[in-house]
Amino acid sequence: MSGPALEVRGLATHFFSREGVVKAVDGVDLSVARGKVLGLVGESGSGKSVTGFSLMGLVDPPGRIVAGSIKLAGRELIGLSGEEMRRLRGHKIAMVFQDPMMTLNPVLRIGTQIALAIRAHEQVSDADARARAAAALGQVSIPSPAERLDAYPHQFSGGMRQRVAIAIALLHRPDVIVADEPTTALDVSIQGQILYEMQSLAAAMGVALIWITHDLAVVSSLADEICVMYAGRIIERGPADEVLTSPRHPYTRGLLDSVPGDAAPGSALPQIQGSTPSLLRLPPGCAFRQRCDRADQACGAMPELAESGKPRQVRCHHPLATA
Ligand code: ADP
Ligand code: MG
Repeated sequence: MSGPALEVRGLATHFFSREGVVKAVDGVDLSVARGKVLGLVGESGSGKSVTGFSLMGLVDPPGRIVAGSIKLAGRELIGLSGEEMRRLRGHKIAMVFQDPMMTLNPVLRIGTQIALAIRAHEQVSDADARARAAAALGQVSIPSPAERLDAYPHQFSGGMRQRVAIAIALLHRPDVIVADEPTTALDVSIQGQILYEMQSLAAAMGVALIWITHDLAVVSSLADEICVMYAGRIIERGPADEVLTSPRHPYTRGLLDSVPGDAAPGSALPQIQGSTPSLLRLPPGCAFRQRCDRADQACGAMPELAESGKPRQVRCHHPLATA
């Protein structure tokens, strides 16, 4: 099928709290093609998870999608009923959470849970469900998959539990998988392996992958495109290699400078000064300006996310020169 697997336009998700309206996501555009990886990057609190939950139709009161369009394989999701979304979730769009126990039931055997996930969307015999469950575990590099079907989640390591959650997300070969910091709690070496394997599987199966992380280093080698989020908005986007080698937004530059790697071992990494602003009462203008050494009066007006040499976009009045 032609066209992007997922196309998001002007997505806004707000929380109507007692203290006021939290604009957690405020006008986000995203587009991912089949087999490609979109890295959605930003500090904690920038709105990455709320974006992911919005795509899944999993935002609960006091939160609500207040504007935008989410097209999954060309089909508009905004306005679908809860029942219609339940039929798509886990089938056409799936999520992998930071904690695999969000997906796994501690009291059910792994094979039983995978069979349930298959049967939520397909009618299959017991024998077929079991065979597919074993194949699904094998696909995510779990050794002796047929024997492991009878194990319980607590008999798996954290990394293996996350592999099971990934296997479940891949079961129905969805159009899109949203992976929300799925390796953040894991060992660094396991992180890299899982990211690499998941990217290969998604590419081979034609699944579009949205990889959410606060850690630019994690997606640097594997994402095709990177979108950097700050205070509920995308502030820079472009092909991953270009964003990483030649960031144009001062915030992206700051994120890159705080990634270990280039710095001499033992030296302190530069951190971005200040902290993320409260989304409750964001002052007008660029949300980064209080932390930015390039800010001036112009930054009191919100910059547009503007083309900055196709296909790059940057939301900044004073972008950095291309390297
Ligand atoms: P990230 O995943 O980038 O760390 P989140 O998407 O979880 O950030 O959160 C973005 C913003 O939305 C945060 O400021 C957070 O306080 C706010 N938020 C998330 N959930 C709720 C909620 N249930 N009620 C009010 N605010 C919320
Ligand atoms: Mg999050």
